[in-house]
Amino acid sequence: MAPSKRTSDYVKSDLDHVIHPVGIIGDESDVVFTGGRGIMLQDTEGREYIDGTAGAANVNVGHGRTEIAEAAMAQMKELAFYVIFRNMSHTAVVDCAEKLDELTPEGLSRFFFCSGGSEAVETALKFTRFYWRNQGTNKFKVIGLYEGYHGTTFGAISAGAMGKGRNSKGFEPLVPGFLHIPRYYCYRCGFGLSYPECQTHCARYLEEVIKSEGPDSVAAFIAEPAQGGGGMIPPPPEYWPIVREICTRYNVLLIADEVITGFGRTGKLFALEHWGVKPDIMTMAKGITSGYLPLGAVAVTDEIHQGLKTPGSPLPHLLTYSGHPACCAAGVKNMEILVEEGMTENAARVGEYLQNQARGLGELPLVGDVSGIGLMCGIELVADKATRKPLDQPAKVLQKVLVRCREKGLLLRTFGDRIGISPPLPITTGEVDRLIDILGPVLAGLEAE
Ligand code: PLP
Repeated sequence: MAPSKRTSDYVKSDLDHVIHPVGIIGDESDVVFTGGRGIMLQDTEGREYIDGTAGAANVNVGHGRTEIAEAAMAQMKELAFYVIFRNMSHTAVVDCAEKLDELTPEGLSRFFFCSGGSEAVETALKFTRFYWRNQGTNKFKVIGLYEGYHGTTFGAISAGAMGKGRNSKGFEPLVPGFLHIPRYYCYRCGFGLSYPECQTHCARYLEEVIKSEGPDSVAAFIAEPAQGGGGMIPPPPEYWPIVREICTRYNVLLIADEVITGFGRTGKLFALEHWGVKPDIMTMAKGITSGYLPLGAVAVTDEIHQGLKTPGSPLPHLLTYSGHPACCAAGVKNMEILVEEGMTENAARVGEYLQNQARGLGELPLVGDVSGIGLMCGIELVADKATRKPLDQPAKVLQKVLVRCREKGLLLRTFGDRIGISPPLPITTGEVDRLIDILGPVLAGLEAE
């Protein structure tokens, strides 16, 4: 659709009225988007950009899929809304749950719907505590990872622990009963160890913490199968099987937060499939609709579902927009496209190519670590490659990278001192080459300064 105002009018009006998530209050917007097709976006000035981030790593099937818009519109015309509280239902939510049952790992067959990732995490945490209380136990503690990102509602920021309290500062006190352990980032091991001699100590350490806290008090371990907001970092291959075994042995629920990794992003439909591990609870959002409408979901096993029942009492958790019909219809069409067009397989194949090409940038003196899985890739910039000394002013340097890439038609994200690449899943190897051909010279140019 052609913009109805001039760019400067949009920018002024935006400044006057829009509060931007993680925006610097009082700063002008520098790009105003109007449209998108495939992996490309356009702005009000008619400029074209490669969407190297798939929005917020959520536009999995790519931009401009009118079939999804049509499915949502058809649903709105038929039944725009009704609540599914208590035992009421509608066809859209049933269709969406059936589709999820088809795609999610075996054993996860019950779904609670919400409007996004933070709500999915919040729901998973509440289910966890309610489940254990219902079993007559006092298990309430939840263990998460440092640099884990699970969203920004209170439970979600309590479960996560982004760098130096970045997302929780000023909002304290957080929810009690949350603990954190070092994550699986081998380049900067929280235990000062080296892989593989460490024998994946970061995973085994979970057992030490469960024992020291008392297994009777620990309800769940929550983590992303590969970290997204923490910088696009995959775990070593042994990590998840070890964690699964510890959780099972100590009767601790395993919550996999697949909000960013789900729906093909890593080259499998859900990332834990890479390591043959099944969670007890799984959170989903983002790629469930590829961002065409807001939707999130929590999947639980039959056992957890049974354990949430209290004879004669309703489940005390509700959201008006649980199972919103148009969002569910968009979700179903999106999942059909994802599967029918083999996008997960493409993410595996082109993802491997992306990781190889990005590793090539590791030759540059400013690049410390390059890691990732499928179509999520993170590049850490350092002040000194030999000693791994971090940048003195990461925000300033990475902002330069973002701006210069954008001037050359490439959109990327940053996470602390890491650059994040997470394009839509239908990207081709040729388009990966274009992306690297922009990013490489920008990084090389920084070194020359
Ligand atoms: N969990 C993970 C792993 C995420 O990456 C995110 C968002 O980036 C969330 C939860 C929160 O999702 P939302 O922003 O939809 O609330």
